[in-house]
Amino acid sequence: MIRDHDALVVGAGGAGLWAALELAKAGVDSAVLTKLYPTRSHTGAAQGGVCAALGNQEEDHWEWHMFDTVKGGDYLVDQDAAEVLAREAIETVIELEHMGLPFNRTDDGRIDQRRFGGHTRNYGEGPVKRACYAADRTGHMILQTLYQQCLKHGVKFYDEYHVVDLVTEGGELGDGGRAAGVVAYRIADGELVVLRSKAVLLATGGFGRMFRVTSNAWSLTGDGVALAYRHGVPMQDMEFYQFHPTGIVGIGILLSEAARGEGGTLLNDLGERFMKDYAPNLMELAPRDMVSRAIYQEIRAGRGIGGKDYVYLDVRHLGRKVIEEKLPDITEFARVYQGVEPLTEPVPIQPTAHYAMGGIPTDLLTRVTRDTAHTVVPGLYAAGEAASVSVHGANRLGTNSLVDLLVFGRRAGRQMAADVRGVRMPAVDDAVMEPVRAELEAIRGRQGGERAAAIRRDLADVMMDDVGVYRDETCLRRAQKAVGGLRERYRTVAVHDTGTTFNTDLLEARELGYLLDCAEAMVASALARTESRGAHSREDYPERDDTKFLAHTLATRRDGVISLAYKPVTITKFQPKPRTY
Ligand SMILES: Cc1cc2nc3c(=O)[nH]c(=O)nc-3n(C[C@H](O)[C@H](O)[C@H](O)COP(=O)(O)OP(=O)(O)OC[C@H]3O[C@@H](n4cnc5c(N)ncnc54)[C@H](O)[C@@H]3O)c2cc1C
Repeated sequence: MIRDHDALVVGAGGAGLWAALELAKAGVDSAVLTKLYPTRSHTGAAQGGVCAALGNQEEDHWEWHMFDTVKGGDYLVDQDAAEVLAREAIETVIELEHMGLPFNRTDDGRIDQRRFGGHTRNYGEGPVKRACYAADRTGHMILQTLYQQCLKHGVKFYDEYHVVDLVTEGGELGDGGRAAGVVAYRIADGELVVLRSKAVLLATGGFGRMFRVTSNAWSLTGDGVALAYRHGVPMQDMEFYQFHPTGIVGIGILLSEAARGEGGTLLNDLGERFMKDYAPNLMELAPRDMVSRAIYQEIRAGRGIGGKDYVYLDVRHLGRKVIEEKLPDITEFARVYQGVEPLTEPVPIQPTAHYAMGGIPTDLLTRVTRDTAHTVVPGLYAAGEAASVSVHGANRLGTNSLVDLLVFGRRAGRQMAADVRGVRMPAVDDAVMEPVRAELEAIRGRQGGERAAAIRRDLADVMMDDVGVYRDETCLRRAQKAVGGLRERYRTVAVHDTGTTFNTDLLEARELGYLLDCAEAMVASALARTESRGAHSREDYPERDDTKFLAHTLATRRDGVISLAYKPVTITKFQPKPRTY
């Protein structure tokens, strides 16, 4: 089967939906493909807030937001991108308000704002209230609001279509070819469909499922990042993966930073607010990389609770009113998943794998680039967590992802609408689906191979234990070997379900391949970066090295061999300085 649309959006999270909305408003024949029903996208799980320097509560300016973003990202942020983010944050949040998003309000009816880690007044003087929020369900509200708008504007959705390949024309994407559409697997009946298109946006989200303890949904397996990579597009800055400080012990479900933004504290076994020793100025509102490392330091020093591998998040002093009005969901998570009552007890927490700073490299217009010279891949776009533009550099600030979706999702839709004019429909036929059909059939037909779940579990262990918050040469070499071994095992992956109806067994096996691609690039990039910056913390190279590494890593795989190249960071306003809080 073959279908045509002038533009395709892969992914129905915040980034994909806003792009689709712009395409619909521009009258472009377009469609969204999503493996999940749209409102199940991970954006709906986002809790704490979306930031914009509205200045509703306290004086604020987009320049301060830009500075915090650059410093928070340990100067690996492209500053032209951070400027776009901080400026357009304001108008996109107001546009969302006008679409009807039910933000919490101040007494005089304006959007309420709260504090979040690393967001400061006047270039680092102290915390500022910049995060707009709807209780601790901000992402849910954004997703519902955008989805409603998409329905209102008649956006075409292919729900539960799993994109399994990109279609190219004129060569591989890494060699000057263009994106010409996608191959999708219809989950309901296993039918493969070729969708031809003049422009394809990858908005497929992150890949936190490569770690054992993670806040990420089961579906976050790096599909878009890996599919582009398989066609020659580099993965950028993969070594920078964020661990969020406060996950539920063992299972990783997130307890939003909003808890600390509202005044929650972190306590060690001695009952001390240990952040005073690590970030005396911002304390618990230091950026996430620092707070996660501080928690590990306390645990290593034997000051975890009862000597164990967790510390406490304490919100008792905030009182029932604040907790019920501003943090209802996360306190309920603590009750349901831990059996702890946050009104009267401190909550045991430990860092949880959370967010990919790296991903598909793009320019400011969301066009995918393929080398250190920023050469654009025709017809291919990326936005949201799958993309690396790069506004987050080596470490993202809380609330800066949701705003990234809004700003760059909107830019993607507008850019695609402009670019498809006058371009002809690619002339590919449905034979382009044959390679991926053969790969899927091989998995389905294999007798006696290994199940994906076992390989996935081992991958999650390796990545958690050896490529987590702290790294060094020894553990990274061990991880490299282990991931190589897992790739070998994956060659014989097999499934129990050989049918065509809702065969999630087959699709999960496919997704594991994407996770392995992302993991392999992450380990190679982390090994080569012999410095510590943001979330990439090398115990054997504890200092940041701006002479060698003020650059983005581009990892490319050709004929099974990964090569790395380095692309300079764009610096406009803020020269790198030591990063203290
Ligand atoms: C628990 C949690 C809380 C968070 N809280 C905050 C917060 O308060 N503030 C903040 O700024 N950030 C927060 N984040 C981060 C932020 O929510 C995510 O980075 C962001 O929502 C990602 O959005 P996205 O549009 O890129 O993709 P997602 O919302 O992850 O959506 C991905 C989409 O891609 C589709 N897809 C994927 N693969 C395929 C495929 N092969 N074929 C077809 N479709 C595919 C899926 O169906 C889905 O629709 C949080 C994240 C988590 C996990």
